[in-house]
Amino acid sequence: MVKIVLIGSGCAGFKFMKELKNLNKDKDNEILWLSRDDFMTKKWLMDSYIIKNKDEKLNVNVRDFIKEKGINVRFEQDEIESIDTKSKEIAGKKGKYIYDKLIIATGSKAKLPRIECADSTKGKIFPFNSYDDFKKVKENLKDSKDVVIIGAGPIGFEISVNLAKKFNVSLIEFESDIMLAMLSGKPLYRKITKKILDLQNVNIHTLTRACKFEDNKLFCDNIETRENFYVPSETIVFAAGVKQNLPVIDGYIFETEKNILLSNDFGEAWIREEDGRRKILNDVYVLGDACYYQNIGNFPASAMFAERSGKIVAYNIFQSKYGNKKRLDFNPSLYAKFFNMILRRLLSG
Ligand SMILES: Cc1cc2nc3c(=O)[nH]c(=O)nc-3n(C[C@H](O)[C@H](O)[C@H](O)COP(=O)(O)OP(=O)(O)OC[C@H]3O[C@@H](n4cnc5c(N)ncnc54)[C@H](O)[C@@H]3O)c2cc1C
Repeated sequence: MVKIVLIGSGCAGFKFMKELKNLNKDKDNEILWLSRDDFMTKKWLMDSYIIKNKDEKLNVNVRDFIKEKGINVRFEQDEIESIDTKSKEIAGKKGKYIYDKLIIATGSKAKLPRIECADSTKGKIFPFNSYDDFKKVKENLKDSKDVVIIGAGPIGFEISVNLAKKFNVSLIEFESDIMLAMLSGKPLYRKITKKILDLQNVNIHTLTRACKFEDNKLFCDNIETRENFYVPSETIVFAAGVKQNLPVIDGYIFETEKNILLSNDFGEAWIREEDGRRKILNDVYVLGDACYYQNIGNFPASAMFAERSGKIVAYNIFQSKYGNKKRLDFNPSLYAKFFNMILRRLLSG
C-alpha cells in the first residue's frame, strides 16, 4: 500500500483523481487529497461570468465530485505552507501530513505590476486568480463605467472583448503589439485579434506602462515617446501573466521566481536553483500551472496541459522504470489550443 498525497483541487487535481479511479488505484492505496479550496473553478468561464446577471455553475465541489465518482479518498481542506522531501512531511495551516508519493497541483497566481496608489484605492485593483477575485470584480463593476485591463495576452484579450459589451474598456500593454507571446511570428493573426478589439471599441495602448492610480485615473507613460497621459477607470484588472504558486519546498521559496519548479517528460519534479543547479525531488510529481515543463521558457499555464499532466502522472506513479512510463510530450499547435479553448467553453458552459 502506497500513501499518495495530492495538493490542489484545480482542473489538474481533478483529472488526476479521476484517472486514479479509472485505473482502480484508489482501492488498495491510501489516498489523501489536500487543498486550500474545497471546490474547483472553471476559470475559462470567468470572464463571461463577470458580465452576466445570473450566477452560473462555475464551481465543482470536491466532496460532491468524490461521491459522484465513488473515489476512495480522504479530503482535507488545508492550505499547505511547506514540504520537506527528506522526511516526506507536509505542513499545512491546520495539520501535518506524511506521504510516500506527493503530487503538487497548486496552480499559478497573477503577476502584479507595480502601480503607485493610495491604500483607499487599492480596492479597485484586482488580480484575476480565484473565484473570490472574480466575485469582487463583478461587485466593483456595478459602480463602474470605465475599466482598464493591464496585459494584452489571451486572458486580457478575452476579458476586454467580454467587458466591452457593457463598459468603456482600455487595454494597456507594455510590449509593442497585443498577444505577442502567444502569436509570435504570426503578425496576420495579431492583426485579426486587434481588429476584433477595434470592432468592440476597446482602446488599445501598446508600449505603455501603467504607473499611478489616483482619483479614478490611471496615469501611464508611453515607453517610446515618453508621453504621459491618463485613462479614466473605476476598475483595474491585472492580466499581465502568471507565475507558479507553490509552498516552500525544502527551504526553497518560489515567490521571486529565482528558484523554479520544473517537471520532466514524466511529470517528475525538480528544482532549478538561482545559479542553475538542479535538485531532483524524489517521489514528487508536479502538475498543471504549478510547473514549468522541461525548461524555464516553457510555462504552459493552460487547462489543457493541466489535465493532460494530471492523467499521465496518475499512470506514471505506479510505474517503476522509464520504459513503462508515459511521456507528456506536450507540444500542441496553435490550432489545437484554439480548438480546445472553444470546445472547453461549449462543453462546460
Ligand atoms: C480568465 C481565465 C481564462 C482561461 N481560459 C483558458 C482556456 O480557454 N483554455 C485553457 O487551456 N486554459 C485557460 N485558462 C488557464 C487555466 O484555467 C489554468 O491553466 C488551469 O486552471 C490550471 O489548473 P491547475 O489545476 O494547475 O491550477 P488551479 O486551477 O490554479 O488550481 C490550483 C489549486 O490549488 C489549490 N492551492 C493553491 N495553493 C495551495 C496551497 N498552498 N495549499 C493547498 N492548496 C492550494 C487551490 O485552492 C486550487 O484548488 C484560463 C485562466 C483564466 C484565469
